[in-house]
Amino acid sequence: MIDVRLTAVSKRFAKSSDSAAVDDVTVTIGAGEFFTLLGPSGCGKTTTLRMVAGFYFPTSGHIHFGDDDVTHWTPNKRDTGMVFQNYALFPHMTVAQNVAYGLKVRRVSRAEQARRVTEALEQVHLAGYGDRRIDALSGGQQQRVALARALVIRPRTMLLDEPLSNLDAKLREETRAEIRRIQRESGTTSIYVTHDQAEAMAMSDRIAVMESGRVQQVGTPHEVYYQPANAFVARFIGRSNVLSLPVTGAAEQRVQVRLPGGATIEVGAPAGHGLTEGDTALVSARPEHIAVGGDDDTAAMRGRVSHVEFTGMATHVTVDVDGDEVMAALVDAPAGIGLGDVVGLRLAPERLWVVKP
Ligand code: ADP
Ligand code: MG
Repeated sequence: MIDVRLTAVSKRFAKSSDSAAVDDVTVTIGAGEFFTLLGPSGCGKTTTLRMVAGFYFPTSGHIHFGDDDVTHWTPNKRDTGMVFQNYALFPHMTVAQNVAYGLKVRRVSRAEQARRVTEALEQVHLAGYGDRRIDALSGGQQQRVALARALVIRPRTMLLDEPLSNLDAKLREETRAEIRRIQRESGTTSIYVTHDQAEAMAMSDRIAVMESGRVQQVGTPHEVYYQPANAFVARFIGRSNVLSLPVTGAAEQRVQVRLPGGATIEVGAPAGHGLTEGDTALVSARPEHIAVGGDDDTAAMRGRVSHVEFTGMATHVTVDVDGDEVMAALVDAPAGIGLGDVVGLRLAPERLWVVKP
């Protein structure tokens, strides 16, 4: 197992253009880690992955696999297993022929090929499928063949670019668990690309949240969810309300803010937040940390219900507070919350977190 390090990696496609597709990215992916690049379309995820694979060279910066500086190595020298959204399987070959492809190219003996193909198909729970035609398989099975084909060469790193995007919702959830199981068992250092935050949260050891070519935050799913670094991360991971509140006091990792209802509360803040009394803090409040109800004195703020959405797991109640929309997610919504009602909102201060703009 090896770690993968990106140091100040940038990629510009056009020399004349000022904006970089990938802009000064520094991250270390630990040996055996399942690491995800997460961000909206166009933020530079695929470009970053292609530089790790060797399909693009960085404009500046360095990439290391363990002690090897691979920045300018060709793709075949890097020993990476790649899995793509469109599977990229050979439709006219059998499952076994597809999986064996990388071994054949590497001139592995026929006996060894057969042994390793069997082993790889067992790994992805497709034992006995070797003689099937690719077009006779479901999308989920085809993606598992693609995984087996990547794993069979025993790559130093696995690179997966939105591999589940072509599957429908239920199969996507099943297959993401399957990919994670296979990765755990093989222990291969893996970099996974997705724009789907739920997928990233469910699968990853750690996540790098990207926007406009830059890494906004690197952390565990818990860290990026409960301690988002800035308003972009707070809104992109899950659904967060970002409230602007006046600061009435500050300590090293706590900030006291005044709520629209007049009460003051203490909320968590990152070290070095730099806020002092008189500033305005941006405070991230998750919908599930806001409750609807409470009398005038205890309500953090009051507003008029502008939208109610029943999702099954929770009821999402959107409340207009002086022109700002605040969303609460209620597992047990009190009966009779209706459009236009004036309601109080209560916050769970211990769950609130100060973010940067
Ligand atoms: P993502 O995978 O996050 O959707 P990409 O890495 O594909 O984003 O793209 C990042 C940016 O780089 C986008 O603005 C995209 O248009 C640009 N880009 C990607 N590939 C090329 C290319 N081969 N030539 C020029 N621009 C590119
Ligand atoms: Mg992409």
